Amino acid sequence: MSKSKIEKVICPQCGKESDIRIWESLNAEMNPKEKQQLLDGTLFKFSCPCGCSTVIDASLLYHNMTKQTMVYYVSEEAAEDTEKMLNDIRQHDEFGMKDYNYRIVTSQNALREKAIILENDLDDRVVELVKFFLYAYVRDQHPEAEITEVLFFTDAEKRLIQFLGSEAMTVVIPDGFYEKNHNQYADRLAEVDKKELYIDLMWASLFLKE
Ligand SMILES: [Zn+2]
Repeated sequence: MSKSKIEKVICPQCGKESDIRIWESLNAEMNPKEKQQLLDGTLFKFSCPCGCSTVIDASLLYHNMTKQTMVYYVSEEAAEDTEKMLNDIRQHDEFGMKDYNYRIVTSQNALREKAIILENDLDDRVVELVKFFLYAYVRDQHPEAEITEVLFFTDAEKRLIQFLGSEAMTVVIPDGFYEKNHNQYADRLAEVDKKELYIDLMWASLFLKE
């Protein structure tokens, strides 16, 4: 099920008040149009008739039934409570959803990235490993770039990684690199805890250290 509410927003440029729809939970199958906006990075954007556009920040639960996955986008302050709630769901299995994949992310970019990964039927753990390796390489080649964020996305059929920092860079993931890592780590990935809620570069770094 999807859930949304209408809120008032005041344009920071012209001061005009507009109604906007804020999504609290978004079901990929029931709301394909909004799912596409999430994939395109426009779901949180509000454009005023004056031409000014603003990013609206609101937490969101993204539910992909086909992939049996729920991604919670919450503030860093709310992450711990979300963890507790998800552990409760798993423990009591009230909704018959204990075997679902649950993820917590604390940035809109990371939410969009998870949605793209689901849409492309990839394993986010393998994507983080791929990101980790390419990050190490790009950081060595471009120490001046001061990379702060590493994001997976796709364009047409290409799989890409975007590096954000003092300068933005995009790298194409070499053909077969995802598959190579997928095969190489398949046994170990099958063994690790499936209840892990945070799958990000930090997770990849710890996984590779073990
Ligand atoms: Zn305006």
